[in-house]
Amino acid sequence: MPPSSSRQFAEISTSLRPTDAMVIMRRAVVLGGSMAGLLAARVLSDHADEVVIIERDGSEVGDEVRPGVPQGSQVHALLPAGQVQLERWFPGFTKEAVAAGAVLPRPERVQLHLNGARRHLPPPTGNPPLVTTRPFLEAMVRRRTMALDNIRFVHGRAEGLVFDGDRVVAARYLPMTGPDTPNAEPITEAADLVVDAMGRSSRLGDWLSENGWQRPPMRRMPIKLNYATALFARDEQVSDVDVVVSQTNAGNGRVARIGGINAVEGNRWIMLVAGYADDRPSRDTADFIARCRNDFPDAFGAIAEKGRMIGDVVTYHQADSRRRDFHELERLPAGLVVAGDAVASFNPVYGQGMTSATLHASGLSSYLRTNPDLRLPAREYFEKVRIVADAAWQVSTTADLGLPHVDGPYPPGYGFISWFGNRLLAATFSDPVLNQRLGAVTGMVAHPSSLVRPSTMLRTIRASLFSRAA
Ligand SMILES: Cc1cc2nc3c(=O)[nH]c(=O)nc-3n(C[C@H](O)[C@H](O)[C@H](O)COP(=O)(O)OP(=O)(O)OC[C@H]3O[C@@H](n4cnc5c(N)ncnc54)[C@H](O)[C@@H]3O)c2cc1C
Repeated sequence: MPPSSSRQFAEISTSLRPTDAMVIMRRAVVLGGSMAGLLAARVLSDHADEVVIIERDGSEVGDEVRPGVPQGSQVHALLPAGQVQLERWFPGFTKEAVAAGAVLPRPERVQLHLNGARRHLPPPTGNPPLVTTRPFLEAMVRRRTMALDNIRFVHGRAEGLVFDGDRVVAARYLPMTGPDTPNAEPITEAADLVVDAMGRSSRLGDWLSENGWQRPPMRRMPIKLNYATALFARDEQVSDVDVVVSQTNAGNGRVARIGGINAVEGNRWIMLVAGYADDRPSRDTADFIARCRNDFPDAFGAIAEKGRMIGDVVTYHQADSRRRDFHELERLPAGLVVAGDAVASFNPVYGQGMTSATLHASGLSSYLRTNPDLRLPAREYFEKVRIVADAAWQVSTTADLGLPHVDGPYPPGYGFISWFGNRLLAATFSDPVLNQRLGAVTGMVAHPSSLVRPSTMLRTIRASLFSRAA
C-alpha cells in the first residue's frame, strides 16, 4: 500500500538537508526564473552537470517589482513551511535576510483580528516569521541560486518544447536583447529534463496540445479578489506594530474583507486592504485612507492618516484560484515537470503560493533522489506535487466557499468539512493545542488530514459543547 498523503507530505516538507548530491543528468532547463524556477534550479544543481534558467526579465533585476511578476507590488507573507524550506535549501537564509533588513516581528507587536475581535492567543509556536516585501525575498533567493557554479541564467522568452517520440528533449527560446525586444532567431537548448515554472499564465498546455499531447485538466474557483497596497515610512510616533492581520468573514451583516500590515526592510510598512467581487478598493489615496479608517482595526487608520505614504496605491485583481491536474493525464511526455503557480495558484490571502513553490522543489528533490529513469514520464514527481497542491487547495477553497459570491465547485463532504471547520476555528480562540494544530495546517507544516484525527475532533467537539454550555 502506498504511504498516506499525510506521510508523503511530511517527507516532502522535512527540514532535513540532503547530504548527498547524485548527478543523474547532463542538463536541466528551467523555464521561468521566479520563486518556483529558482528553487527548482537550486534542487537540480545537485543532480545535473548544468542547469539553465531561461527568464524573460533577465537576471539584471534588483529587488524592485519587475514586469514578469506584477503581483510583487502586493503584500507577500511567507508561511512557516516556506521559511523552513528556504533554510533547508539555503542554509543561513533567515540570518542573511535579517542582516539585509528583513523583519522578525516581536510577538508583542503582532496583532491578529478575526471578525473585529482581537485574538489574544499567541500565534502557533515556532520561529518568528520572516517578513519582507516580495521582490526583496525573491532577490535573496536569486542571489543564493546564482551563487551555485553549475547554474546559468539566460535572458530569453521561452517559445516551445522540442519532442523526440515520447520525450521532451529541448526547449526553444528567443534571446532578449532588451526588456521587451526578443531576437528574431530562436535558440534550442537541449535538456534531459525541462521544468515549466512560468507561473499561472504558463502556455505549456498549448505547447502540449500543439504537439499532439493532452492538455492538463484545469480546475478553477472564481474568487474575484481585489487588492490595494501602499508602502509607508515606519514611524514609532504613528504606530508600534510589526504585523497586523485582520480577517472579516461574511455573515451577520459583515462584509468579507482582509487587511494586513507588515513591517518590512527599508524601515517601511507595507499595508494591504482587500475585498471581494464589487467591493473593490481603487488606486485613489483618499479611498485607501477611508477604507483603512472605516473597515479595519485602529493601526490601519493610524498609519494611513498619520503616516507618510511612499509612492502610490497599487491595485491587483485575481479572478480565480486554479490548478492544473497533470497527475490525471493518461499520456504525459517524459523529460518534463511543472512547478509553482504553473501547477496551482490559490487565493493569495492564505499566503500559500511561494511556500507551495518551495515544497514543489522539495518534491522534485525527493523524486530525483530515487534515481528515476528520465526516459519515462515523471509520474512520481507529479504525485508529490498533487499532494502539496491538494493540501493548499483544500484549505483555501474550503474557506472561499464561505464567500457569498462563490458557488462551487463543492468537494464531497463539504457540509461536514464546513461545520467542523467553523467549530475548530472558534475553538482555537481558547484552546492553545487546537490553535497550534490549525496553525500547522494553515502554515503548510502539516497536512490537512491531521485535523481529522480522533484526538483533534474530540477536542474540538468538547470545546464547542463547553462554549455552548457556558
Ligand atoms: C496579489 C497577490 C498576492 C500574493 N500574496 C502572496 C503571499 O502573501 N504569499 C505567498 O506565498 N504567495 C502570494 N502570492 C502568490 C505568489 O505571488 C506566487 O505563488 C508565486 O509568485 C509563484 O511563483 P512562480 O515562480 O510559480 O510564478 P511567478 O512568480 O508568477 O513567476 C513566473 C516567472 O516566469 C517568467 N516567465 C513567464 N513566461 C515566460 C516565458 N515565456 N519565458 C521565460 N520566462 C517566462 C516570468 O517572467 C516570471 O519570472 C500572491 C499572488 C498575488 C497575485
